[in-house]
Amino acid sequence: MTKIYSRVGIIGAMAEEIELLHEYVEKSNVFVKAGITYVEGTLHGREVVFCRSGVGKVNAAVCTQVLIDAGVDCVLFTGVAGALDPKLNIGDIVISTSCLQHDMDCSPLGYARGQIPFQETSEFLADPKLVELAFKACNLLFPDRHMKGKILSGDQFVASRDVVRQLHEELNGTCTEMEGAALAQVCAMNDIPYVVIRSMSDKADGSAHVNFAEFTAVASVNSHRIIDEMIQHM
Ligand code: SAH
Repeated sequence: MTKIYSRVGIIGAMAEEIELLHEYVEKSNVFVKAGITYVEGTLHGREVVFCRSGVGKVNAAVCTQVLIDAGVDCVLFTGVAGALDPKLNIGDIVISTSCLQHDMDCSPLGYARGQIPFQETSEFLADPKLVELAFKACNLLFPDRHMKGKILSGDQFVASRDVVRQLHEELNGTCTEMEGAALAQVCAMNDIPYVVIRSMSDKADGSAHVNFAEFTAVASVNSHRIIDEMIQHM
């Protein structure tokens, strides 16, 4: 495949999610901005800049803008999430086709849940080329254990079956997490392509806190393997 992207931004929310990048990226520079550390280097010969955003939408938004200002021409997010689609099991992968903030709620003013007032778009589409790259990588590494879908983000760790049902049925979410839609919105504001790749660490239900602790490490490794495979074909 021809090279489309010359400098790739990669974000993980937690240390586990970027641990392997620390191991495999040939580092050339490190800088700190707004309290977040960014590492520049190469991975499989491609220029990358990666960082740990921290948890939540504000952290994700700030570091996405810093990465874009540092010259990346696309942004990949690697991490874990809670499953919403009942077909998903822990360890399965979701590739974002779009991201929406499920906690954006101005319904008393007549807006649909998730809709940002005075804005044309609230559901931010992922880049089709990046989605396809991720899909190919998943077919190779995790056949039959992945799906594409809408990712719902909010500043909440979801751990309730009722909320899961609501998010899946009302907002058509495939999985839920705490950063994707913030990153997606910042990418859209800057016209930069993005994709979010999430391994399911839990089912966002009453056992989510236990499953999350148990499966985050292995789920983070799975997401990283996809990014690593994608980078070799970008
Ligand atoms: N590391 C901290 C807090 C993690 S918060 C701890 O262990 O206590 C959960 C992180 O995993 C967020 O970055 C979020 O994007 C993702 N996540 C996984 N499962 C989730 C769920 N059920 N609901 C919301 N976010 C989830």
